Amino acid sequence: MIQYSLRCSQGHSYDAWFKNAQAFDDQQARGIVVCAVCGDGQVEKALMAPAVARTDNAKVAVSAGHPDPAQLRQLLKAFKQKVLSEAENVGDRFAEEARKIHYEEAEARGIYGQASRDEVVALAEEGIEFLPLPDLPEEHN
Ligand SMILES: [Zn+2]
Repeated sequence: MIQYSLRCSQGHSYDAWFKNAQAFDDQQARGIVVCAVCGDGQVEKALMAPAVARTDNAKVAVSAGHPDPAQLRQLLKAFKQKVLSEAENVGDRFAEEARKIHYEEAEARGIYGQASRDEVVALAEEGIEFLPLPDLPEEHN
C-alpha cells in the first residue's frame, strides 16, 4: 500500500491509500479518483519541493517570524513561483533524486516532484530536508 497526499482542482488536500503507484495512475487515468471533500475529479498528487537547494525566498519566509497572513501568502507565492520556474520537475523520482543529492551522488540543484507518504517519512528519517509546496487558494479560482 502507498499513501499519497492528494489535491483537487478546488484546492482541497487529503491523504489516500492506493495499492501501488501504478494503481493510482490507472485510477486517475480512468477518472475514478475523486476529491474526498467535494467529489471533484481533477485530483493530482501534491507536489513536494525542494530537496536541498534553499532559495533566498525560503529563508525570508522562515525568518519572517509572524508576518501578517497577506504578507506570508505573498512570500509563499513568490517561493512557489521560484521553485516552479527554477527547479527541475523530477515527478515520481522525487525521493530518489533528493536522496542522490543529499548523498552527493548527483549535482546539487533545486528539484520538485511527487513523493508517497512512506517516501516522505523515509526521507525525513534520513535527515533529508524538503517541504510541501504551499497550496495557494487564490490559484484555484
Ligand atoms: Zn475538492
